[in-house]
Amino acid sequence: MRFTKIVPVILIAVALFSCQTGSKKAEVIKLDAASLEKSWTQNSVSSTSDGFLFENQASMIASKFQVRNFEINAKLKTTLGAEGAIVFSVADVATPDKGYMVKINNSDYREGNPQKTGSLSRIRNNFVRTANNDEWFILNISVVGNHIKVAVNNKTVSEYNQPANPVRPTEIAGCLLSKGFITIRKTNGEGKLLVAEMSVTNMENLVKSDKVVTAEPDSLMKVVDLLNFQEFPLIDFHCHLKGGLTMDQACQHARDNGYNYGVAANCGLKFPVTNDSTLNAYLDGISKEPVFKAMQCEGREWVTLFSPAAVARFDYIFTDAMTWTDLKGRRMRLWMPDETFVEDDQKFMDMLVGKIEAILGNEPVDIHVNPTFLPAKLAPDYDKLWTPERMDRVIKVLKNNDVALEINARYKIPSIAFLKRAKAGGVKFTFGTNNGSNNDLGRIEYCLKAVNEVGLTSSDMFLPRPAKDKKVMKSGLPSKITG
Ligand SMILES: [Zn+2]
Repeated sequence: MRFTKIVPVILIAVALFSCQTGSKKAEVIKLDAASLEKSWTQNSVSSTSDGFLFENQASMIASKFQVRNFEINAKLKTTLGAEGAIVFSVADVATPDKGYMVKINNSDYREGNPQKTGSLSRIRNNFVRTANNDEWFILNISVVGNHIKVAVNNKTVSEYNQPANPVRPTEIAGCLLSKGFITIRKTNGEGKLLVAEMSVTNMENLVKSDKVVTAEPDSLMKVVDLLNFQEFPLIDFHCHLKGGLTMDQACQHARDNGYNYGVAANCGLKFPVTNDSTLNAYLDGISKEPVFKAMQCEGREWVTLFSPAAVARFDYIFTDAMTWTDLKGRRMRLWMPDETFVEDDQKFMDMLVGKIEAILGNEPVDIHVNPTFLPAKLAPDYDKLWTPERMDRVIKVLKNNDVALEINARYKIPSIAFLKRAKAGGVKFTFGTNNGSNNDLGRIEYCLKAVNEVGLTSSDMFLPRPAKDKKVMKSGLPSKITG
């Protein structure tokens, strides 16, 4: 199921590059006071002791030289509100957006452009914050043959292989690799963009780009490409580093398949993260990774184990309704057949819906995951048991508590009928896999099917709340465990 076709292309590109480097030297063109006149043109940019300052929408520096294979290294800083871009493969600097655009934007979630620093805009969008305002960061962009790679602070954020016959809608018709100019610009009127250092290493003589052949996208990848063009937030918010899956492998899988990941820690009684100190240690350990950081709230006891301030450090938190205690006091885990007791199908369903209402009404979570999951005994009757009345009760509690609904790729739930009803009810959605290891990551096929069949658009999709709007900080944590 994994998209592995492009891996050989990367290897070819790297091999071509490395076998040539011994004999020839790359040319390095700096952007500094000494080279400004000779190699660059500038408009509305001032020189300061901190570097070149871009303050308004007309601020731009463009190269006088053209490159095809290169590496850009830039040391940058933004202040609140500033958005900018580095564009390459630009045919004419009079139209500086016609090329491949890499976004510079460190705004909080739901503020400014949803694409954040390192996004290869409308080709491989990045929605994860990778740098902060008022802090220097390093942006690295390389083009070797048909392989484009963007890294922020030495972490690869976006990666793309341009196929032999790339399809481009008219809005980004110029988004094609060519020997072109490089521009660095401010793209809005707010804040400041500072460029302390920038250099372009021309690798023209080192790479035979015409020898690099890239596989054509398969049918699923064409859907992913189209949604990237539309800036649709393709994010799997429910990935676990379980069963040997490493952070680097997860990030590579996301890049290979054209979406972003949110990586979740399981937090609760008898889980690795059980209190503020283990929570803080976990988050500090992954703070530089280019993924959303998520908390999966386990069991119902989690509300008593952590402080709101610690919980609010996560980008978002979520829970499911698969662990609860029934009327006879039996703690059930619905995915474990020998821990689940179903004596009467209808009564069980009513109890389940009641539990979902209680959990989502009581716990300040952002997303309801593994939704509508039924124990193995009931799963064959899913469509009959999830009656319109029961669906509407779940949709109502989601809407009333501003909780997004996960479209689960692994279990293929909720049903399309449920999702259509939820969209009509004004609910927001997320994608999630809930993988158990590195063997069941998949390619979010069911989520993409749902986008098509339910007619989901960007505005139907959840994005994490900004720091000032964290639910847990507004409501606190309930003092009582959900019964
Ligand atoms: Zn999970």
